Amino acid sequence: MGKLIVLTGPSGVGKGTLMRSLIEKHPELYYSVSATTRAPRFGEVDGKDYHFISRQKFEQLIAQEEFLEWAEFAGNYYGTLRKCVLDKINISKLVLLEIEVEGAKQIRKTFPEVLSIFILPPSVKELERRLRSRAQDSDDAVAQRLICSQREIKAAHEFDLQIVNDKLDVTLKKLESALFRPSNS
Ligand code: 5GP
Repeated sequence: MGKLIVLTGPSGVGKGTLMRSLIEKHPELYYSVSATTRAPRFGEVDGKDYHFISRQKFEQLIAQEEFLEWAEFAGNYYGTLRKCVLDKINISKLVLLEIEVEGAKQIRKTFPEVLSIFILPPSVKELERRLRSRAQDSDDAVAQRLICSQREIKAAHEFDLQIVNDKLDVTLKKLESALFRPSNS
């Protein structure tokens, strides 16, 4: 059997960047591409960054129990497709999910053996700066994400490990040692 790893934390904290760096350095890791009803940002590719689908299609997939977890976040649905993840775990892959906090809690309930890692910002001010510097979301979307972040950060202690993402290379090293320590390999 493979192993499931969940990276969670507030939007803008750098989970996506960390995930991409990990995959680049460790091609043996499998990243599960989520489905979302959010519109693609500039440069995002369907099937690579997300499966971009309509609300109607997403609700149909919920009804068909196709999701391992799903959540509504800042006005859009996001979800992990059951089949992709279970197929990979069954062939002994290390599977990474990069998801928001409510979905991560659902995964912890379904898979108590999951390794769950909460990424924290160095400060709320820095989180806001990172969200704005992405310059791809409206002021409203940034404000909504900041409001969500207050609730999300309060749940950090519920996860196995908390890592403050101040400097990317330092955070990456901490993640690698958590993922590849002997008991997790
Ligand atoms: P964004 O719109 O910035 O790409 O993502 C918003 C939030 O949704 C981020 O915190 C991201 O980690 C989370 N997210 C991405 N995919 C999934 C998923 O499949 N399930 C859940 N619950 N959250 C997701």
